[in-house]
Amino acid sequence: MQPSPIIEARNLVKQYGAARVVDDISLQLFRGETLGLVGESGSGKSTVARMILRLIEPTSGSVIFTDSNGVQQNIVAMKTRELRRLRRKISIVFQDPYAALNPRLSVQQILAEPFAIHKEQPSEGLQARLLSLLEEVGLPESALTRYPHEFSGGQRQRVNIARALALRPELLVLDEPVSALDVSVAAQVINLLRDLQTRYGLTLLFISHSMPLVRYLCQRVVVMQRGRVVETGTWSEVCESPKEAYTQQLLAATPELPLS
Ligand code: ADP
Ligand code: MG
Repeated sequence: MQPSPIIEARNLVKQYGAARVVDDISLQLFRGETLGLVGESGSGKSTVARMILRLIEPTSGSVIFTDSNGVQQNIVAMKTRELRRLRRKISIVFQDPYAALNPRLSVQQILAEPFAIHKEQPSEGLQARLLSLLEEVGLPESALTRYPHEFSGGQRQRVNIARALALRPELLVLDEPVSALDVSVAAQVINLLRDLQTRYGLTLLFISHSMPLVRYLCQRVVVMQRGRVVETGTWSEVCESPKEAYTQQLLAATPELPLS
């Protein structure tokens, strides 16, 4: 029997005026896998991600979330209180590591925020949990007392990832998390995500415009163009024999990262 997916998006549509920027997207994301959502800039990837998290309202369609106890709910129909509960189970990391961090808060305050918002006390104590979060993302303990401007882009993205992991989410959505970084720094962050995958069996939705990048993390890919899915399958199915000329372009257009 096929396990039920953690996320099943059905017939998602987003319309802005006359423009249908997401046009009937359906996709499944299974527990423990990393799904790549790939497409050129403007193809609707971020809009899909934001609808899945209900950061924006779909025009139509549904998003069925199955939690670790097997309880199913439609995210699109959730009330405020249910959405709050969902926010600790699904978290997101955005492309721009600079915009995402409040410059007035220390890393200690940034990482403590999710616990305060959700009134959660880590069993090992807050300080111990913050230190272990830093360790998980490869930052030194001394980072706690520092402020965002004291870090490089790659380090800031590690802080964002640590914050996203704070409440041990069931699903982490990464919206072009390395697109704003230099190639060598991007490679380090990709390696970190790979480590987190193997250490914690995290479920990831990894959004990128780069096919080669997706290859390092994803078992399956969904290829988007102009708001629609044009191909879906395992990385090798899609990339070794791409059916669409568009997919071939995505494969050819992006340089390889220095990853092993
Ligand atoms: P991607 O993440 O693949 O680059 P987006 O989901 O950000 O694509 O955007 C898809 C399309 O929707 C783009 O053409 C973009 O201009 C348009 N779009 C996104 N947000 C809005 C909005 N709030 N109002 C109008 N158009 C939007
Ligand atoms: Mg985007």
